[in-house]
Amino acid sequence: MSFSITLPDGSKKEYEEALSISDLAHNIATSLGKAAVAGKVNGKIKPLDFQLDKDSEVAIITDKDEEGLDVLRATAAFVFEAVAKNKYPELRFGDHVADEGGFYVDTDKSDQIKVSELPEFEKAMQKMIKNGQAIERVEVAKSELEDRFKDDPYKLELLKKIDGEKVDAYKLGDFVDFGFDALLPNTGKIKNYKLLSVAGAYWLGKSSNPMLQRIFGTAFFKKAALDEDLKRRQEIKERDHRTIGRDLDLFFVDPKVGAGLPYWMPKGATIRRVVERYIVDKEVADGYKHVYTPVLMNVDAYKTSGHWAHYRDDMFPPMDMGDGEMLELRPMNCPSHIQIYKHHIRSYRDLPLRIAELGMMHRYEKSGALSGLQRVREMTLNDGHTFVSLDQIREEFAKVLKLIMDVYHDFGITDYYFRLSYRDPKNTDKYYANDEMWETSQSMLKAAMDDLGLDYVEAEGEAAFYGPKLDIQTKTALGNDETMSTIQLDFMLPERFGLKYVGQDGEEHQPVMIHRGIVGTMERFIAYLIEIYKGAFPTWLAPVQAEIIPVNNEAHGEYAEKVRAELAKRGFRVEVDDRNEKLGYKIRESQTQKVPYTLVLGDEEMKSNSVNVRRYGTEEEISKSLEDFINEIEADVKSYSRE
Ligand code: ATP
Ligand code: ZN
Repeated sequence: MSFSITLPDGSKKEYEEALSISDLAHNIATSLGKAAVAGKVNGKIKPLDFQLDKDSEVAIITDKDEEGLDVLRATAAFVFEAVAKNKYPELRFGDHVADEGGFYVDTDKSDQIKVSELPEFEKAMQKMIKNGQAIERVEVAKSELEDRFKDDPYKLELLKKIDGEKVDAYKLGDFVDFGFDALLPNTGKIKNYKLLSVAGAYWLGKSSNPMLQRIFGTAFFKKAALDEDLKRRQEIKERDHRTIGRDLDLFFVDPKVGAGLPYWMPKGATIRRVVERYIVDKEVADGYKHVYTPVLMNVDAYKTSGHWAHYRDDMFPPMDMGDGEMLELRPMNCPSHIQIYKHHIRSYRDLPLRIAELGMMHRYEKSGALSGLQRVREMTLNDGHTFVSLDQIREEFAKVLKLIMDVYHDFGITDYYFRLSYRDPKNTDKYYANDEMWETSQSMLKAAMDDLGLDYVEAEGEAAFYGPKLDIQTKTALGNDETMSTIQLDFMLPERFGLKYVGQDGEEHQPVMIHRGIVGTMERFIAYLIEIYKGAFPTWLAPVQAEIIPVNNEAHGEYAEKVRAELAKRGFRVEVDDRNEKLGYKIRESQTQKVPYTLVLGDEEMKSNSVNVRRYGTEEEISKSLEDFINEIEADVKSYSRE
């Protein structure tokens, strides 16, 4: 027998006898043998003891590789399982996953594992790790495992998903589990690990299945890397818009009254109102006509638009009104704005016709995808549709892009990139079928971007079903890419709805539609703002701009009210905190609520018609006349805009 091993650099090694991945690594270099944690054989991750006995391509995976981390994390997950099973023999396990995010294990018992138990599990893991216990890999017949797990419906289901008759199982003492690509041969290498949190997760991700308890953790080869990761996780937690939304009482979502259907509390609603007024004013100044249109529409309109054929999975089922009428909650506002266009005979003089709306829409997002305000089922989109002639596309496109850039400036959004989203050429069924239209509009968008000298990435399969788009992608605090703004070219809906305008030549022509969203939905945008500002909104957006605290309610209450009225009269959002609490407590609370200005009013201030000001995030207290303070806050509120 003779076979050859091809290494990643293309070199070949000939062998006469089978050898393990570990042997191969030692064979190449002693240091590599020590650092090896697994191997990649013909593209598949295999454990160190895997026997090489035929021609194959092999890469040694070490503690420096991403895949090495996956192996370490899978091993940590396995050790967690072993100690958890030790403590609770009745415990069952669902799925386990190890990847760049860490690891998790789904667990189930009648009284679920609690987050408070995690330190105890960590200690038990530590013991097992210190002992450097062997983890043994055994190749067994599937039937043997079916027998072993005969009372465990989860494992039986997981076994069904494995192809072939042989399964790699791993043993740590009496404990056995399977479904790992590779584990380390010994617990000793898992020095830096952490059990992070617990959360409910449906078995196989289906909401009709039982809810299991998912235990999250992570592991690293180096302590510094673990520390850095924990710090990053803490930061993400601090930015999480759901936590801040609760702490600052901005909004809530309660699955009992409707998953994905947010309630905006007064403070959240105030932020939203400021954003809405801002964007509507901006658009009106830019030539948009703002309208209101219904959220319900006859289902026939969505059959004409193509939503019914291409977008139905994301729509709520229609309401049968019993008299033959079927009404649909709109998932997009385009057909509504088309009705506005069609309501009058249009001529070239009307174009570009810019119709805009804060349009409420409903999409039936999967329950597992819902997240705070970031992904909801009822949302209000800062939507707009411009109807243009062919030769107006370039200019209108540039105009929308300029509007977007102005808006980003005002909100201090700097971390974004452009993505041209094309249809997926391998899955054209998903899209409106007209190859020529797709070619033309995709190259038009690209040319417009090149014209403006802007960098972009190109993504196939991200287009809308009716046309390609320019998406402006931002990053959430959790590191996910989200589309914030979008400009989309559409030749399809004008054709489907038979849109026309009378040209200069007196003939009828078909307009092109540009769909665009500037700040996207109010929900996702405000979630984003909460995260970038960590809840400390700039003064122009802050729900309460100044908190007025009388030193003594009796003595200074009247003066506090006078200051409040004076500020409110000028349009500032102010509150007086006249609860019967200690002064220090009220000042601290104003800070935790991240109010930009805290004004403390006592004898001195009352006498001289002044205020004592504390700016959020500073320790300084500065006394100034009320007039000076008004000038200061006025300038501050205006400072977001360069105009
Ligand atoms: P996604 O890919 O995130 O589902 P999409 O491509 O379907 O979004 P569009 O149809 O382009 O989104 O919708 C316009 C805007 O609506 C997006 O820019 C995004 O800001 C917002 N949006 C879409 N779906 C949701 C949702 N479920 N919750 C909140 N906002 C959303
Ligand atoms: Zn649209």
